[in-house]
Amino acid sequence: MDKESFLQWFSSEIPETLFPQIAAQVLFRCENCGECCREEGYALVDEADLQEMASSQGISPSEAKTRFTDPDPEKNPGCRILKTIGPDRSCCLFDVLAKRCMIYSHRPRICRTFPMLDLDTKGEELICFYSDCLGTAKFVKMLREKRGDPEVQKDIESLTRQEERMQALQILLFVWLRRMMGKKEEAEFICSITGVSFPPEENAFQRDCLAYFLMTITTDALDGYQYEG
Ligand code: SF4
Ligand code: SF4
Repeated sequence: MDKESFLQWFSSEIPETLFPQIAAQVLFRCENCGECCREEGYALVDEADLQEMASSQGISPSEAKTRFTDPDPEKNPGCRILKTIGPDRSCCLFDVLAKRCMIYSHRPRICRTFPMLDLDTKGEELICFYSDCLGTAKFVKMLREKRGDPEVQKDIESLTRQEERMQALQILLFVWLRRMMGKKEEAEFICSITGVSFPPEENAFQRDCLAYFLMTITTDALDGYQYEG
């Protein structure tokens, strides 16, 4: 595949709504409060997740599969679901007393991409701002503070004016997501044919993500949010 055919595929197949969601996930910081580890009961994991979980516990992937997962009732190809325990159906890897994930730095990718890339639960909304997620509460607070910042407004204006820069940012966001999902080789291939370099310069990337996200989110969504954790 060359650059031109990639760009054609990229513009026709990747929905515009995905980019602000990725930008939000780049900016989001999980506080490991454990709220999303309880009463959820349906977190999909695949072979790569199992290997990561197994290595964190010093056990084999097949043992991790038996101990930590159950068959996926929806039979997604190659997937299992995290086992749940107790009356509130907590994830079996959630330490109920400490209220923390026991394998946090090795947690499955579905846990890493929650909540901004939680595509299944948003319906018509671009982003679901969960009222019981401490990370979301801090994220919203940061956005409320930054949206009036003149420097951020300048970033938004300059991004809006520069079509090529906007496209490069969208490719970079897509590459970031592919790497997050464990598709490192695919991400490198995209960089090689498009000329986008990864990892990006951290500060500039964060600023662009913030500007991009604020361009797409409505004031109502931010003003209406209230933390209830
Ligand atoms: S693996 Fe960890 S982060 Fe994921 S649901 Fe279980 S306890 Fe929560
Ligand atoms: S509810 Fe939010 S802050 Fe808490 S563990 Fe889940 S993603 Fe992280």
